Amino acid sequence: MEMKRIAVLPGDGIGPEVMQVALKILDAVQSKYNVCFDYRHALVGGAAWNDYGSHLPEETLKICRESDAILFGSVGGPVREQDTDKWRGVEVHSLLGLRKAFELYANLRPAKLYPALAFASPLRSDISQKGFDILVVRELTGGIYFGQPKGRRGSGDAETAFDTMLYSRAEIRRIAKVAFEVAQKRRRKVTSVDKANVLTTMVFWRQVVEETAREYPDVEYEPMYVDNAAMQLTKNPQQFDVMLCGNMFGDILSDEAAALTGSLGMLPSASIGMGKFGMYEPGGGSAPDIAGQGIANPIAQILSAAMLLRYSFGMIAATEDIEHAVETVLNDGYRTADIWQKGNRKVGTAEMGDQILKRLES
Ligand code: NAD
Repeated sequence: MEMKRIAVLPGDGIGPEVMQVALKILDAVQSKYNVCFDYRHALVGGAAWNDYGSHLPEETLKICRESDAILFGSVGGPVREQDTDKWRGVEVHSLLGLRKAFELYANLRPAKLYPALAFASPLRSDISQKGFDILVVRELTGGIYFGQPKGRRGSGDAETAFDTMLYSRAEIRRIAKVAFEVAQKRRRKVTSVDKANVLTTMVFWRQVVEETAREYPDVEYEPMYVDNAAMQLTKNPQQFDVMLCGNMFGDILSDEAAALTGSLGMLPSASIGMGKFGMYEPGGGSAPDIAGQGIANPIAQILSAAMLLRYSFGMIAATEDIEHAVETVLNDGYRTADIWQKGNRKVGTAEMGDQILKRLES
């Protein structure tokens, strides 16, 4: 039997609660698909601080290095405690630390609006009722967030501040290839978002993406200015399949697309690098306001586990099985508090997991 090692990093807040449910789902996949998952649990974030005085201990990094993929929960503490040693910089140290350690340069953020949850979307109902299924592919390690030089100089009215938007051909090409290859397994369309009418970096971005697009004649390619893309997301989100973006535009548009689904507790994400290794985590944070109450929505964590199966283990049938079970449970009217509407059946974290499990095993 095939054995796969998964580093399991539940982290803080609702992380451990939703992770427990996601692992039950993976357990069901083990028996159904005849694979063996070797879970390696490790501490990260505030949960690691008391024992290690670090948000990303060397022992955790070692466990990740020895694994085939990372399943991450969430990190972060209550807002009123943000400025204590335990919580200060926790996201940067844990998440950016892992992205850097494993050169995870591609961020995949699906934003799917299920017709059953159309009411939760802030979009006009004639638009939201059709649902949408978008995958934002965001470049994660380059662009204006990391380009040098950056800084401030001068003083008074003459003081200036500056950042540098910088991309190499290799960086653009590798993220574009991710987008086209992912699109080949979806609805075969890539919309590349840029600002080629103003920024030199983006003229280059468009040129390299166009060159890469020629290698994928089976995928439709269209460039779109970022301002138009932001507007089109609200007017006609159904037109998008894969949206390819640089770091900053991807940061903003993936949040906009997520907001249009209306429910943070539903959205998974993946950060992948060279080869099959990747880190998979819910789009939301540690939700300290509801932690420990057993009411968090486990679907984002479950779908993150499904993304892990798809992108790191190539287990497409198992992935689709989980996605289908989630959709069926929603169609059957089961809802955690964050997506509940009158007339639906309100359930807690564990029962939502059990309902999905039941459909997965049937
Ligand atoms: P958040 O995403 O944790 O919560 C925002 C709102 O969404 C809250 O009302 C929360 O209850 C709700 N929510 C989020 N996930 C949910 C789920 N699965 N089920 C039901 N409701 C859910 O964002 P925040 O409140 O801005 O941040 C809280 C903490 O999380 C902070 O410490 C922040 O730094 C951290 N954070 C971590 C990550 C990460 O680990 N990737 C991401 C964002 C924020």
